[in-house]
Amino acid sequence: MEQGRLLIGGQWTEATDGARFPAHDPADGSLLGHLADAGQAEVDAAVAAARAALADPAWARTTAAARARLLWRIADLIERDADELAELESRDQGQPLGVARAVSVAGAAEHFRYYAGWVTKIEGSVTPVSFPDTLHYTRREPVGVCALITPWNFPLMIAAWKIAPALACGNTVILKPAEQTSLTSLRLVRLCEEAGLPAGVVNLLTGGPATGRALVAHRGVDKVSFTGSTSVGREIVRASADDLKRVTLELGGKAPSIIARDADIDAAVAGNVQGALLNSGQVCAAYARFYVDRAREQEFTEKLAAAVAALRLGPGLAAGTDLGPLVSAEHLGRVESLVGAGVAEGAQVVTGGSRADGALAGGHFYRPTVLAGVRDTMTVARQEVFGPVLPVLAYDDEDEVIARANDTDYGLAAAVWTRDLGTAQRLTAGIRAGAVFVNMPPVPDPAAPWGGFGSSGWGREMGAHALDVFTETKGVWLHHG
Ligand code: NAD
Repeated sequence: MEQGRLLIGGQWTEATDGARFPAHDPADGSLLGHLADAGQAEVDAAVAAARAALADPAWARTTAAARARLLWRIADLIERDADELAELESRDQGQPLGVARAVSVAGAAEHFRYYAGWVTKIEGSVTPVSFPDTLHYTRREPVGVCALITPWNFPLMIAAWKIAPALACGNTVILKPAEQTSLTSLRLVRLCEEAGLPAGVVNLLTGGPATGRALVAHRGVDKVSFTGSTSVGREIVRASADDLKRVTLELGGKAPSIIARDADIDAAVAGNVQGALLNSGQVCAAYARFYVDRAREQEFTEKLAAAVAALRLGPGLAAGTDLGPLVSAEHLGRVESLVGAGVAEGAQVVTGGSRADGALAGGHFYRPTVLAGVRDTMTVARQEVFGPVLPVLAYDDEDEVIARANDTDYGLAAAVWTRDLGTAQRLTAGIRAGAVFVNMPPVPDPAAPWGGFGSSGWGREMGAHALDVFTETKGVWLHHG
């Protein structure tokens, strides 16, 4: 049973009012433990600790090489504890153990390694200004205290996406994981301590939306890096306007996947099943609208439905599980109601379309669902479902499908399935999305930018892009005369 506390300035503490909230296993609803619910007093204390650590020579004067070693050591510790972290992620979030191991844990470790490499390469430049006897150069300085607010779908990996570049750039951080899935964030923060980070450099506040709101509103926070829903992203922009905090937002998506007439349908089916159903579709970049050339629609739909129906649902920790439960009863209800709306609007269920029953009835399981006869205006084609639901739509020509794919507020990811280079080039150029994948599922990589167009967010994280958003640029003018 987990008894999570808060990490503030190197001290593990309870909330001053003793407030706690429960953590549940989504596979059977059982209680996993209790976590401290940080209130305003803890937010104030964590911000003060992070500010103090920012100025403390123990961190501020750490050499780039030493900071790189710290990040590398965190990666080593994640790998040392990989089995334990994967099991905890699977139990807390629901994802199959293999996904927890290969995506969440491996992705977290790789992120720390990648940014360990960058620390010694965060360079400024010399600028040819036209003032006589003047040298101008730029310095990349930390933004300051960063509030890192994460969602429940890949808690460990997304925490690493933020902590690693923030520390690489010399910032101090306060991590606020999602209330549904905080357990691996607790472990990660312990590993950061064990790696030897000075007190106050990484702080952890567990809690719900109120804790996140208090962090965003706090004058002592310089930057918010948020991954989560578009509606909360908008709220964060409004709440951070008064002091013009630096804000990056990785938000929702409704990724179109376009299957062209010449596509290898078997490969497209396999890739789209992966692209749509990793972590039971609880992936921001999950393929969520399938536009199929009308000539291949029937073949694609039949093969897709057969592949989806063959997937095994089960607890993440059970051997042979392909799809785990959804994260919560509330989310299960939401997925169910969106499918219900699709059916009421005229979509046909080809496979799935209901909760799992029998031995799985105690968990939050929804059967993977293929919907045919979907139109662009249907709720299920427009709203982010964030679950195991695959709506299939037919298209007739390229310009039409580009316009339909772009007829959305989102623009995080998209896919194109074709063997023709011209088709690939025209569609990838035409689609408005932060990442377009050709003949492959939507994979993140530490080296590649991640972020979206439109309501999918602000800015890009990962790769060298994260260095831009976790630093301020200072110009230095040196005159002699
Ligand atoms: P959410 O927006 O409900 O919550 C995310 C986090 O924000 C949680 O830690 C929550 O406690 C906190 N929060 C809630 N209200 C807040 C407020 N007003 N101020 C500050 N913090 C607040 O999102 P979720 O339901 O946890 O996650 C699912 C969403 O995340 C989906 O929309 C998904 O697409 C998105 N997501 C995006 C990416 C990406 O990289 N673009 C990755 C994963 C998930």
